[in-house]
Amino acid sequence: MLRPSGASLTATRQPSARADRLRHAGSDARGLRHAESGEGGLRHAELIGWWASERRDLPWRRTRDPWLVLVSEVMLQQTQVDRVLPYFETFAEHWPTPQRCAQAELAEVLAAWQGLGYPRRARNLWRTAAIITEHHDGGVPADLDDLLALPGVGPYTARAVQAFAFGIDTGVVDTNVGRILARWTGRRLAPREAQRIADDVVPEGESWAWNQAMMDLGAQVCTKRDPNCARCPVQPWCAWAGEVLGSEPSGQPDPADRSAGASSRQPPFEGSDRQARGRLLAALSTIDIERAGAASAMDLERDEARAQRLVDELIAEGLITSEGDQLRLG
Ligand code: SF4
Repeated sequence: MLRPSGASLTATRQPSARADRLRHAGSDARGLRHAESGEGGLRHAELIGWWASERRDLPWRRTRDPWLVLVSEVMLQQTQVDRVLPYFETFAEHWPTPQRCAQAELAEVLAAWQGLGYPRRARNLWRTAAIITEHHDGGVPADLDDLLALPGVGPYTARAVQAFAFGIDTGVVDTNVGRILARWTGRRLAPREAQRIADDVVPEGESWAWNQAMMDLGAQVCTKRDPNCARCPVQPWCAWAGEVLGSEPSGQPDPADRSAGASSRQPPFEGSDRQARGRLLAALSTIDIERAGAASAMDLERDEARAQRLVDELIAEGLITSEGDQLRLG
C-alpha cells in the first residue's frame, strides 16, 4: 500500500467530494476543466506557486533555444536528469546549432554520447540536424507534424519542444506527468485520453511553467513508489490522494500502473544486448577493431554468433560501418 512520507496526516486536508467528482469527470477529458469550473485557476495558482519555490535549476531551463531544448529532450528520453547534465553541457558547447551538428562526423557525435546509452538517439539527432539545415532554413520547426517527422522525435519530445521552446499551449506527457494524471483522475488512462487531459489543464499562456511544474511535481512529490500527498499542492483535486491519506484505503491498485506515459519496468541491463553493444561502441570510439575482435570487445567470447548478430544490427542501424574486416564508429 502506498503511504505518504513526511508530514503528519492530521495536519493535512482530506480529499474532498470534489476529488470524487473529478474521478468520474475524468472519463471525459473536458471534465477536468469543466467539472472544476471556477477552481481551475486556483489549481493552477497552487501548482505554479509551489513550483516557484521548489523548481530545479537545470541548464536546459535557462534557454528557450529550440535546438538546445530539442537536444535536452532527446537526452532525457529514458535517462535520468543527473546523468544527462554533463552530456548536455558538452553537446551544447560543441554543437550549439543544427548547422554545426550537421557539419560534424557522426563518429564524433557518437563518441561524445558514449556512456549516456541508447546511441540511436545520437544518430537521430545528427540526422535531424541535417534535415533542419536543409529543409527548415536551419531552424527547428514549431509545427507538430513537422516535429514528428524528424528522426527520433515522438509525441512527447515534439510537444516538449513546442512548450519549452515556443511557449505553445500543449500538454507534455512524460513519465512523471503520466503518473500524476492517472492518480489525479483516479484511473488508468489510454494514451490519447492522457494527452487530451494534459492539453486541457494547461493554463492559457503558461505552458512553459505549467509543464515544468508538473514534471517537478512528479519527480519530487508524486513519485512512483512514495507519493507525498501531505505536501502536494494539488491534493484537494486529486482522486488518488484519498487512497494514500485516507484512514481506510480501499486497497485498489495504483492507477498509474500501466497507465499512458507512466514508466514500465526496464529489462535488466547486466548481460543484455544493450550492454554488449555499448561495450563495442565504447571500444570503437577510441580505435577501429577487426570484426574478429568484436566478440572480445563485447565480452562475448563464448557466444560468437550473438556477437556477430549484434555487429550486423549496429551496421544496419548506421551506428558503425564495416570496411573489409575493419569496424569503425559512425
Ligand atoms: S495528491 Fe498524492 S497522488 Fe495526487 S498528485 Fe499529489 S502526490 Fe500524487
